Amino acid sequence: MLARQILLRYNITTRELAQQQEQDPGLEHAFAAHDHDACCARTLDAVERMVAYSGLRLTPVRRRTLEILLEEHRALGAYEVLERLVRDGYGNQPPVAYRALEFLVENGLAHRIRQLNAFAACAMPQEAHDPVFLICSGCDLVAELPGTAASSGLRSSAMRAGFSIENMNVEMTGLCPSCAGEVRP
Ligand SMILES: [Zn+2]
Ligand SMILES: [Zn+2]
Ligand SMILES: [Zn+2]
Repeated sequence: MLARQILLRYNITTRELAQQQEQDPGLEHAFAAHDHDACCARTLDAVERMVAYSGLRLTPVRRRTLEILLEEHRALGAYEVLERLVRDGYGNQPPVAYRALEFLVENGLAHRIRQLNAFAACAMPQEAHDPVFLICSGCDLVAELPGTAASSGLRSSAMRAGFSIENMNVEMTGLCPSCAGEVRP
């Protein structure tokens, strides 16, 4: 019920965001050199609008946790997030970090990267989607594939096999363009 409500609300913003993405292809380039401040600001802006529509409560500690995850295109373990929160004066109890991360994951603002036992901010919080991650084993950069083409292909293959998906989180490891460039002669 709640998920359905949130989906409906996502759809309201998806149109606006699609327009924004057309104007700004930077969303696709987590691995390429880009203006990361603008990249973070854009994601936070999408989050603010999503929060305003859905009535989610982005408390200061939840917001700070998201900002920490957004600082770099990397996944952070809960303990690293906790250390950062402590440094920023948000208390030093592990549940503080765990609860904030859980809130972000449950509401689609961050994803759990199981292979790394870590968390990454969602690159497209405005859009209902199954996350597909590219994880570079050379430099630890993590990029979420934009759009839903990859996951919807997998969804329809699973459906054809008569499989009902409950949860989908695709994680691919490999080399990002610059690490692959170093490996190649
Ligand atoms: Zn960025
Ligand atoms: Zn995502
Ligand atoms: Zn790399």
